[in-house]
Amino acid sequence: MNAVKKLTRRLGNPLEWSSSAKATLLLIVTLLMHVEYTVWAHYVLGRPDSNEFTHVDFLRDEMATFHAIVLVSCVLSLMIPLASRALGDSRVYEHLAANYYGLSHCYFAWLIGTLSLPTGIVLAGAPVLGFIFFNRAAVVGAFCNAMLALLVLSLLSAVGDLPYAPVVNQFVRSDGGVSLFWAGSYIGYSIPHLVFLFGLAYLVLRRWREREEEVRTMSRTDPLTGLFNRRSIITQLKREQDRSVQQGLPMAVVMLDLDHFKQINDTWGHEAGDYVLIAAADALQKTVRQNDRVGRYGGEEFLLVLPGADGEGARRLAERCRHQVEALEVLLSDGRRVRVSASMGLYCNEHDRDASTDTMLRRADKALYAAKQTGRNRVVVADETFD
Ligand code: GH3
Ligand code: MG
Ligand code: MG
Repeated sequence: MNAVKKLTRRLGNPLEWSSSAKATLLLIVTLLMHVEYTVWAHYVLGRPDSNEFTHVDFLRDEMATFHAIVLVSCVLSLMIPLASRALGDSRVYEHLAANYYGLSHCYFAWLIGTLSLPTGIVLAGAPVLGFIFFNRAAVVGAFCNAMLALLVLSLLSAVGDLPYAPVVNQFVRSDGGVSLFWAGSYIGYSIPHLVFLFGLAYLVLRRWREREEEVRTMSRTDPLTGLFNRRSIITQLKREQDRSVQQGLPMAVVMLDLDHFKQINDTWGHEAGDYVLIAAADALQKTVRQNDRVGRYGGEEFLLVLPGADGEGARRLAERCRHQVEALEVLLSDGRRVRVSASMGLYCNEHDRDASTDTMLRRADKALYAAKQTGRNRVVVADETFD
């Protein structure tokens, strides 16, 4: 197993993570972003030409706040797993982390401009992903708080009570061009958010799709035999019947019932009966053609849907299935062998293309009854008189 697979398995389904795990992930990512901004500020202050594009004195004064924020992020990232271990899991962690993520970013947004590219990316991207991954109330709460903070900061800047983007000097150069330094810094500020949002969205949505696929498969599969369950095989029968009417091609249904199955249960036990059902299902599945469908219709009854089959073709296929079931020797765990046979009722719509699915099922069922009455382990073909 390669490293990525190992990691994905370890991560499990992020949608099912506990609140504290989700909050911790968000806080660690927030911490990494704060570290990036702080490293950036140190780099800027270290450049000899920094006063050409930043208000250096202002930025230097803010460094204490930068460091304090990094410290708080560290403490919170460590505290939440510890708190959840001591006090148990709670949605409160998600509220705390989401609000901290939003409000701490408001501060940095103010420094470089509340109406800037990075602020826009966080504002648009974070809630979208947040709604999928986090507790919705936590996302709404944090979004409203951050929005309010940004609004207040922008308004105060607009009326002149607060400087707008106080770190930025000459975003637009005196010759009218945009500062390359600031363009690069804005992109540098945006990239971690984009990587986080895209990465998490990819992971979460992939899991979501996998889970949906699992649920879909479960909803149409019989858990014992792995065949289509009754609802699903009936749906397929209806679909094939529609197609048969539209395309003018015949189709057939076979109702199959294992013979004296109660006796198998009574003699060998219910578990042995289950093995026989699984073996019979397997034999049927292996005998039919690629486009044919096999479903478990009831306890020890199966339904075969044979699209495009005429009466003779369907009969030959049903006979093959009967032979295969008859040839089965189901080996039990204690070494004993169980044999079984099947009776079948077959109906092909080649002479009554408009026969409804109910009619087809009823005719096949009547034929099955006739097969049971006339000695079992046989195929009886129904015609339009089997009503
Ligand atoms: P016939 O030849 O007339 O069909 O006789 P039969 O014994 O097969 O028919 P009957 O309807 O009397 O019995 C069917 C039995 O199938 C009864 C039921 O306990 C058993 N059965 C139904 N579902 C399952 C299952 O999932 N596992 C097992 N082991 N037995 C099942
Ligand atoms: Mg039976
Ligand atoms: Mg039965």
